Amino acid sequence: MVRMQASPYPMVAIEEAIAIVLAHTPVLETEEIPIGDADGRVLAERIISADDMPPFDTTSVDGYAIISGEGTAPRRVLSEVTAGQAGGQAVTPGTAIRIMTGAPLPPGADAVVMVEQTSEVDGILHLTEAPPAGANIYRRGQDIARGQEILGPGTVLGAAEIGLLATVGRARVRVYRRPVVAVLSTGDELVEADEPLRPGQIRDSNRPALLASVREAGAIPISLGRVRDDAAEQEAVIRQGLQRADVVLTSGGVSVGSRDLIKPILARLGTIHFGRVAFKPGKPTTFATVGDKLVFGLPGFPVSSLVSFEVFVRPALRKMQGYTTLHRPVLPVRLDRPVVPSVDRPEYQRAIVYWSNGHLLAYPTGAQRSSRLLSLVGANALLRIPPGTMELPAGTVVEAVLLGDIRTAAAADRTAGQ
Ligand code: AMP
Ligand code: MG
Repeated sequence: MVRMQASPYPMVAIEEAIAIVLAHTPVLETEEIPIGDADGRVLAERIISADDMPPFDTTSVDGYAIISGEGTAPRRVLSEVTAGQAGGQAVTPGTAIRIMTGAPLPPGADAVVMVEQTSEVDGILHLTEAPPAGANIYRRGQDIARGQEILGPGTVLGAAEIGLLATVGRARVRVYRRPVVAVLSTGDELVEADEPLRPGQIRDSNRPALLASVREAGAIPISLGRVRDDAAEQEAVIRQGLQRADVVLTSGGVSVGSRDLIKPILARLGTIHFGRVAFKPGKPTTFATVGDKLVFGLPGFPVSSLVSFEVFVRPALRKMQGYTTLHRPVLPVRLDRPVVPSVDRPEYQRAIVYWSNGHLLAYPTGAQRSSRLLSLVGANALLRIPPGTMELPAGTVVEAVLLGDIRTAAAADRTAGQ
């Protein structure tokens, strides 16, 4: 028998829902990988340098290695030492050795004079200035001392960190594993992006959008395809996802319509921890666990599914990967125009935040309907608008969840009035 009825699931607050998700989210195990594959990964070990950097006294300029105590007296140039050479001649009183950046400092020298402050004529070096002892010398261990901890667990590996790992001789590194996230979309009305539309059909936009969100969050997406509104088929595909992935995301079918089948399936397979959130857009967002796997039943409306991913799924994927910062930065911003709140629920309005005359200002990206994906295009923030019946006047300070770079006023103006 098919019937529609009010949701039996209690409405939970956004913060509570996020806390429930994180309480059930494990940090994944670690793995060792080549540093060439490590960007964006989170370090799971302490990195202690086994060497000094630089490993020998060297010079930071091209010039001449000299004895500083001899002032500007002319010196005989003995030879040249370039980067990569070692065990060359020593500088003795009355002499100098031509030296290139990165070459080992010859024994006997206590300063390097820059080539710009010299002239060399017939093998004799003339100095315009006398450098002090230690000038232009880059001492062994000056940047990194042997035994020093240079990176710790929880560090997100980017270009500089990967460079440091190579510097200290680490070609492989221990990081947290990335979660595999399986995505399926539900709905009899859905067709693929390259298919023509027959009456009653729309194209499946949630699956490609969610797969992209999963990848952006650092996880490994796999697509389980589109599934018709048939309980047995949906259950079979969700089971398949649970076998192949750490997390399963479904889209659609979590509301209270007669073809909304996801919640009963998840209740059969595992435990539903919440089935409704006091949140716009995305009220029917559902979270369940099946063993140690997580399942998110995301809403069908395209904006709802992406915003719910952002608010509930992304922090969980980051926790699994060992990130210590799970959430986006939140900043107070000032509305540059009036904003109409939702009457009954806190709303995350898609917005543009920009810097103007010493203030962070913000405006929503046009109509905030949950079907209107264009409201997310170009948005660099979600404004947390508390529920209410009164319009918020321009100048009201609200919280902005920053999704991207803050714009400058000039850049913001180009997209104003969408
Ligand atoms: P549902 O929650 O399944 O009732 O879906 C709510 C609305 O979102 C309906 O208008 C659906 O047609 C639409 N919708 C559901 N799934 C998708 C999808 N994968 N891509 C685009 N729109 C969808
Ligand atoms: Mg549906």
